[in-house]
Amino acid sequence: MRITFPHLGSAYIPLEEMINGVGHDPVVPPPNNKSTLELGSRLSPEDVCLPFKIILGNMLQGIEAGAESVLMIGGCGPCRLGYYGEAQKVLLRKAGLDVGFLSLEPLGKLEGGTISFLRRVFGPTNPARLVNAARLAWAKLAVVEWLEVLALSTRPMEATKGTSTQVLNQWLNAVRAAQTMGRLREVCRLAADQFEAISKEKDGETHLRIGLVGEIYTVVEPFANRNIEEHLGNLGVEVVRTISLKRWMEDHVFKRLLGLSYVKELQKWAEGYLSGSVGGHGLESVARSIRLARFGLDGVIHILPLACMPEVIAQGILPKVSVDTGTPIMSLVVDEHSSEVGIATRLEAFVDLVERRHYASV
Ligand code: SF4
Repeated sequence: MRITFPHLGSAYIPLEEMINGVGHDPVVPPPNNKSTLELGSRLSPEDVCLPFKIILGNMLQGIEAGAESVLMIGGCGPCRLGYYGEAQKVLLRKAGLDVGFLSLEPLGKLEGGTISFLRRVFGPTNPARLVNAARLAWAKLAVVEWLEVLALSTRPMEATKGTSTQVLNQWLNAVRAAQTMGRLREVCRLAADQFEAISKEKDGETHLRIGLVGEIYTVVEPFANRNIEEHLGNLGVEVVRTISLKRWMEDHVFKRLLGLSYVKELQKWAEGYLSGSVGGHGLESVARSIRLARFGLDGVIHILPLACMPEVIAQGILPKVSVDTGTPIMSLVVDEHSSEVGIATRLEAFVDLVERRHYASV
């Protein structure tokens, strides 16, 4: 089966591995760009959130590249994510594209749709092959995110702008091509050495540290946030991530399977500001902003798509968190009209403010 799927940062690397590993043919859509968004927006309701439009654009581009089926996650309220897959299926059919739709529902809802999903995707695969594919895909996800964090910490110190990004891209390609765990381990060793060499170019300088919180898609997908991590790194800021696909899987899939809850810890951090989940990552945004502030970060940036209900709730709470903790927090709303230049200007102004506060306090 030729299967396509939406982009989410570098998640295409482990996803491609997984689909390939279980004997299907992955169709990776082109990297997100203006035409992805234009294509998706043409079919989407006007006021739907930005991730919906980009994801629909990925599906269209994947189908154009020959995919027969689309892989998507499902879910259930309270935010719209749970209905994305169903709505996108209808929109694709209305556009005359009769492709298979593989919707992965939450594991707690192991019934009809999920079972048929598992049968169709993994049914023909022998168990040993399935385990190996999952092991390699998971290892690739871990290495990809580790490499990205290395780039976040070296970028503010690099003497020549763009070096960390270049090194990162080189090793992401190597991870994509790796076919064994041994090769992945070798990639880690070589990449660590190369990043270490960059960091020595401007060693010993202190830099600002700013945390990123918000809705997972717009935090993790560089096209949606107009390359915020790179812009901040180029301004001499080390970005601290609080959200990633691996972490999302650990919290939402593995902890659930083990009957553990990640929500209690978040509630503890958010106490006095927000008492429970409001859908999406609203509670995470509040809890993690407080945590970052208490751990002494210089500032926090909260990224949200326009009209994202859970994050709008967090946006209303964060100014109080900022006053109470004395940590500057900026909410950055993104939609299809956001320009890279406009976002870069806001980031420069914010970094300037954070810098002045930082040096006034030392
Ligand atoms: S969290 Fe926000 S952006 Fe994401 S699906 Fe829900 S409403 Fe849309």
